[in-house]
Amino acid sequence: MIDQAIFNRAPLAPNTYSELPLGAVKPLGWLYEKEKALAEGITGHLYEIWPSVRDTAWMGGNGENWERGPYYFDGLIPLAWELNDERLKSVAMRFVEWTLASQQENGYFGPHDNPDWWPRMVAMKCMKQYFEATGDKRVLPFMAKYFEYEYKMLDGQPLGMWAIARAGDNIETVQWLYNITGAKVLLKLCDKLLAQSIDWTGYYHTFPDSRDQKKAFPWKLLQPMMEENPDPWSAGWQQHQRTHVVNQAMALKTPVLDHTLHGGIKQAQAFYAGWEKLMKHHGVASGMFTGDEHLSGTNPTQGTETCAVVETLYSLETIMGQLDDAKLGDIWERIAYNALPAPISPDTWAHQYDQQVNQISVGTGKYNWYNNSNGANTFGLEPHYGCCTANLHQGYPKFVSHLWYAVKNGGLCAMTYAPCEVKWKVGDTRVQVTVSGNYPYAEDISIKVRCEKTAKFPIHLRIPAWTEDAYAKIGEETFVGEAGKFLVIDREWGEETETNLHISRAVKAEKYYHQSVAVTCGPVLYALPLGEKWEYRGAEMPLSDRYATAEKPFNYALLPEEGFTLSEDGRSVTATGFPVPEWKEKDGVTEPIPVLPKQKEESVQLSLVPYAEAVLRIAQFPQGRK
Ligand SMILES: [Zn+2]
Repeated sequence: MIDQAIFNRAPLAPNTYSELPLGAVKPLGWLYEKEKALAEGITGHLYEIWPSVRDTAWMGGNGENWERGPYYFDGLIPLAWELNDERLKSVAMRFVEWTLASQQENGYFGPHDNPDWWPRMVAMKCMKQYFEATGDKRVLPFMAKYFEYEYKMLDGQPLGMWAIARAGDNIETVQWLYNITGAKVLLKLCDKLLAQSIDWTGYYHTFPDSRDQKKAFPWKLLQPMMEENPDPWSAGWQQHQRTHVVNQAMALKTPVLDHTLHGGIKQAQAFYAGWEKLMKHHGVASGMFTGDEHLSGTNPTQGTETCAVVETLYSLETIMGQLDDAKLGDIWERIAYNALPAPISPDTWAHQYDQQVNQISVGTGKYNWYNNSNGANTFGLEPHYGCCTANLHQGYPKFVSHLWYAVKNGGLCAMTYAPCEVKWKVGDTRVQVTVSGNYPYAEDISIKVRCEKTAKFPIHLRIPAWTEDAYAKIGEETFVGEAGKFLVIDREWGEETETNLHISRAVKAEKYYHQSVAVTCGPVLYALPLGEKWEYRGAEMPLSDRYATAEKPFNYALLPEEGFTLSEDGRSVTATGFPVPEWKEKDGVTEPIPVLPKQKEESVQLSLVPYAEAVLRIAQFPQGRK
C-alpha cells in the first residue's frame, strides 16, 4: 500500500479531507461478514460463471469488450485487498496485467476493437485503486501516457454517447494523477473533458427535468427521436443522457470537480442545488432518487436502479474528499445503510435491477416503469440489463475504503461508524484505529486509538445533522459535538486511548410524496415487513430467478402523533396505524398513496423493521387522520 494520502496540488482548490489509499481501512464485524459473503458469493465467482466477465476482452477473452469487465474489477479490486484474499487478487491481476500489456506506443489501451472512451474511464478507476493498494511502479506511467493520448485525440474523436454524461469519472482520476505528478497537461485534459461533456454545473442550477419522465417525455416519444438522430447531442439523446438515472448518479461529482479546477460560487453550489431538486422531484425515503431507468418522480412504487445506488455512493465518496462538509456524510450513510443492502440477497448471488421503497411483490407484477422490462425487480443473477450484475460490486468495498479519510497536515477523519480498523501513519507514527459498536442501531461507539509512540494529531468525528446530543469521552474529559459538523479532538494520543462517542438518535417521521410518512431513526429507514412467499424459476439455486408475493396486507396508514417505540436493540420500531381498505393493489403494485385517509377502523400496532431486511415492505405510509 502507498503510504501517503493524495491532497490537491495548486492550482486545484485545497481540500481538508482526502481518501486514504485502498487497504488502509479494513472491515470488521457485520461489515466484514458482508464482504465475506460477496467474496464467497457473486463477486468471488462471477468471473467463473457469467460470460460477460468470464470471457471479457479485458482479460484477453473474445467476449464483451465494453464496460462490464471494468465495472466488475472496479469492485473486485477493493474487495480483494480489503479482505487480503489471494484468490481474488490473482483474478484482479489477470485484468491488471492484460490491461497494462494492452497499451500501445501512442498510449491507447484496452480492447482495440472498441475505441469508446467510456469503459476506459472505469478502467482508470480500477488502476488508481490497484496502485494505491500495491504501489506498482508501472501504473503511473501507464496512466500518464494514456491521458496524454486522450488529450491529443479528443479534438478529432470527441466524447460520444455515455462519455458526454460520465466524464466526471474521467476527470477524477486525471486530477488524482495531477496531484501526484504535477504535469500541467492533465489540467488541460480536465478542461477539455469538461468542455466536451454535458454542463452539469449549469444543469444542476436550472434542473429542467423536474417532472416524472413518464409524463414529461414518454419512452414512446423519446425512442423514435433517438432512432432518427443518433448524434449524442441531438435533442432526443440529450434528453436521454440527462435523465438517465445512472448518468445522474455519476454526474453528481462533476460540478464539484469543476469547482476543484476553477473555484467559483456557481461551481461550489451546484451539487447542493442539484441534490435538493433531485430529491424534491424524484426522491424517496431510501435516500435515493428514482429512475427506471429515467428520472421517475416521487411515487415510492417507482424503481431505483442498483447501478444508480452504487454510483451515487461513489460520487459522494469523491465529493466528501473535496468539500469540507459533515452533512454530505448524512446523505451518504442514509443510502449506504438502506438502499445499498436492499437490492442484494443475503447470499449475494441474486440482486434486483430496480428496488422499490413500497414493494409488495417482486417479479410477479406489472410494474409501471419508464422503459425497464417488467421483471426488473426480480432477484436474479441478471434480472434485466447486466450492468448492475457487473457494477454492484463496488458498493461495499468503497463504502469500507471511505469510512475514514486523511486530514490535511496529519490526522484522521471518520465519516460514519461501521465497524472497521484503520492502519495509518501520522507523521512518522504508526496509528491503528479500531471502531466497534452497533452503529447505526446503537448510540454508543467505541473508537480505540493505538499509537506506537505518543503523538499529537487531530481526529475529526462526523456528527450527523439528525442528532440532538453528541459527545465524545476520553477518560474524564468530555468533548461536545455540534450536529452537522465535525467534532475535532486535537490532542496527544498515547499508546492506547479509548474514545467513547455517543450520538443520540430518536425515531422521526419524515414527509414525502402525497404527504406520506417514512419512519427513521438516525440513518436507518424502517419498513412494515409483508413476509415473502418465494418461488424459484430457471437455473438451480443459488442462480435461480427469485420471485416473491406478500403474505400479509400492506394497506395501513400511520398515526405519527401517537408516537413510536424503538426496541432496545434498535432493530424494530412499533408504530400506531389503522387499515385503509380503499388503498388497493393492482397487479402487484400499490395504487397511489391515499392522501390523509380518515380513520374508520380500529387502531393496530405495527412492528417495523430495517428497510433492507424486508424484501416486501411498505416504507412510505399514508398519513392517517383521526
Ligand atoms: Zn445497472
